[in-house]
Amino acid sequence: MSQYQEFGECPSCGNPNLRRLDGNSWFCLDCDWDNLPVIPNGNPDDILASLRHGDIHSRRIAAQALINIGDADRHLATTTDTRVLLEALDDEDDDVRYFVAVALGKLEANLSLSKLKQLARDDASPLVREGAKTAIEQIESRQLAVSN
Ligand SMILES: [Zn+2]
Repeated sequence: MSQYQEFGECPSCGNPNLRRLDGNSWFCLDCDWDNLPVIPNGNPDDILASLRHGDIHSRRIAAQALINIGDADRHLATTTDTRVLLEALDDEDDDVRYFVAVALGKLEANLSLSKLKQLARDDASPLVREGAKTAIEQIESRQLAVSN
């Protein structure tokens, strides 16, 4: 008996493109579904600190949390915070780089465009390249909306 829950397909969109983050944590590459725990008392400063100094597990959870809070208040898109996020795009872990790339797409983080483009082109992980491309599209479509 496995203590872990297994998903064959996404409970939300039905696509099979699910990815296990670790343990019982899953997320869907095709829609916004995930069963990831909400960070208790997760304020942006704590999350950024974990992202910077945590072990792999904490960094993954922190990077994932950025996505969930990214849309809400956008307090993270200051120059200082963006710098932490840009550094995290060099994380050794594929999942951390993926989540941070996706989170940057949701933030008003135009500063990150050139780094994301580099990642979309050169990253060793197809998942990370995909996440970076999605983020670039989101940022560029917002720029288009502003200039029109
Ligand atoms: Zn889905």
